[in-house]
Amino acid sequence: MESYMLPFKLIYSDGYYLPIGQHVFPAEKYRRIHQRLLETKVADASDFLTPQPASDQDILLVHKPDYVQKLKMGTLSAQEELQLEVPFSPELVHAFWLAAGGSILAAQHALKDGAAVNIGGGFHHAFSDHGEGFCMIHDVAVAIRRMQRDDKIRTAMTVDCDVHQGNGTAAIFAGTRIPSDPLPSQHHSTPRVRNAHAGDVFTISLHQHNNYPPWKPPSSIDVDLPDGIGDDDYLAWLDHALSSGLRQFEPELICYIAGADPYEQDQLGGLSLTLEGLKRRDELVFRVAKARGIPVMVTYAGGYARNVEDTVTIHCNTVIAANQVFGDKQAA
Ligand SMILES: [Zn+2]
Repeated sequence: MESYMLPFKLIYSDGYYLPIGQHVFPAEKYRRIHQRLLETKVADASDFLTPQPASDQDILLVHKPDYVQKLKMGTLSAQEELQLEVPFSPELVHAFWLAAGGSILAAQHALKDGAAVNIGGGFHHAFSDHGEGFCMIHDVAVAIRRMQRDDKIRTAMTVDCDVHQGNGTAAIFAGTRIPSDPLPSQHHSTPRVRNAHAGDVFTISLHQHNNYPPWKPPSSIDVDLPDGIGDDDYLAWLDHALSSGLRQFEPELICYIAGADPYEQDQLGGLSLTLEGLKRRDELVFRVAKARGIPVMVTYAGGYARNVEDTVTIHCNTVIAANQVFGDKQAA
């Protein structure tokens, strides 16, 4: 029987499991996505690469030495652990170092193959000096800084479609921003778009305005969506944000943060995308990247569907969408 190898690599380790006990974050999702991709023959074992943990040197490209030291010594304050919203353990530290290693590997392979998917990562609420919102280490920022340090890229763009704003990403890549004119919006009930950019990493975040984080540091483009937005409106705003961003900036790598939580059945989200709409979202990002010849690496971020199987489906569909766009099938 012929084997159908994916035209890009999937990065996965059983070590992605986050040891946080009973929690709204379904830490077992990574294992289930891996299993489902194999069972449904979307992928076979040879499509997967196993990451190594990032080195401390890699982590320090983004995170402050004091913070890294506290994580390694287990000396976070009670307040800092509370802000992280997951229970601290040395095993958890290891899982985050591994996720960062996975995103580095995904970036390396995206630059080689045009695309790569880390079946994990996307911890966009981590800041250089603290963690919050289930995110200890900003794996995507670490991967970008490592690619820059290795002279593989000079510029990158983050496209964050998690329902929550990418506050850590915005803060880490803030650099020196020059406010620019806001994008036009048709009438006042449309999403508010904030637009400001200067620096080597352009950050785009589409998120529900009325949701965590309460303080949203400015991304290069923020699309603050009102509650309840559905597939068509969401896709129009994503298309708009991508076109606008790529008119202003030429990234050498796109880092797509494919959160599953804009889903209508999500417990922590207030948008109304369907499973099909989320897959069209993924296809849109991949088509735009492919059309412009920009490599794209994917990370998974959040997903809190009432039924965890839906979260698994959304994340598996991202791989299927990438295969539809980057495979040869669309030639027919
Ligand atoms: Zn989220």
